[in-house]
Amino acid sequence: MKHPEQSIRAEDNAASYDGSTPLARELADLVRRRQTLSAATLPLPARTRIFTISNQKGGVGKTTTVVNLSAALAKSGARVLVIDLDPQGNASTALSVEHREGTPSVYDVIVNDAEMEDIVQKSPEFEGLYVLPATIDLAGAEIELVSMVAREQRLARSLSTFLEQVHEGIDYVLIDCPPSLGLLTINAFVAATEVLIPIQCEYYALEGLSQLLKNIQMIEKHLNPQLKVSTILLTMFDSRTNLAHQVADDVRAHFPKEVLEAVIPRSVRISEAPSYGQSVVSYDTNSSGSLSYMEAAAEIARRGVPR
Ligand code: ATP
Ligand code: MG
Repeated sequence: MKHPEQSIRAEDNAASYDGSTPLARELADLVRRRQTLSAATLPLPARTRIFTISNQKGGVGKTTTVVNLSAALAKSGARVLVIDLDPQGNASTALSVEHREGTPSVYDVIVNDAEMEDIVQKSPEFEGLYVLPATIDLAGAEIELVSMVAREQRLARSLSTFLEQVHEGIDYVLIDCPPSLGLLTINAFVAATEVLIPIQCEYYALEGLSQLLKNIQMIEKHLNPQLKVSTILLTMFDSRTNLAHQVADDVRAHFPKEVLEAVIPRSVRISEAPSYGQSVVSYDTNSSGSLSYMEAAAEIARRGVPR
């Protein structure tokens, strides 16, 4: 019997599973979800939507969400720019773009006033997916920015120039932030119109969240009145544990409008995809992790910009 996370062949269909065992039911469910997704076309936004994916807690799935959501959106036909604003450069690795030390990167854009247009790379994975890579050079930017003019607005300014220059237009920009609230993250908040907060379905999930929301409010008040927490995504959900269900219920009770229906499961496929320089959306398209990110992308596209 196949593991439910393994690919389901195209000729398989829901009718082949009688639903008599939990595994068969799970497989039938995957097939049904895939059919629903493939039947739908997603609306494109009228104006570029700029998301910063942020949570000062480390390892909650920020980068994984940036990589897979951008891949899912690009797969659905949107034009997507990923800005890797984390000196770790994990999003650049997962999206398979050059980011060795010295490669022209987001550091040159923020610190040296380089044109974004000259530095953005095309991801080999999907048509319409572009990446502004991060290299280790970015590690020094946090300190270099301190004494610079308009230090909080540098990313916002170069991004808006870039968006005016691209003839075909960009539908979504996703910014991957480091797990801290320093000047790089502030630059991301100032450049964005929406914040997407990934929340790991584990103990302590809500701890630190009120601090994050307070910081976002401060940015909104003083630096970027357009900024709004539009989206919360539950990640690393392990449906077998009561704790995961409790955390999910808790977060939904606090943020009924923002939390997406789609939930990202804890999945080996998701965690191993980056080592192949791929998103899970192309690494194992029909796995539950990939389907979940495509469902999240569909929901974001259909909901549109919050009022
Ligand atoms: P950092 O704060 O260091 O930037 P992050 O918030 O960007 O971390 P990720 O790097 O996306 O978090 O994820 C942390 C680890 O958890 C990675 O090893 C990643 O592969 C793994 N991971 C993320 N999401 C999942 C998932 N749904 N299932 C299994 N593993 C996951
Ligand atoms: Mg990260």
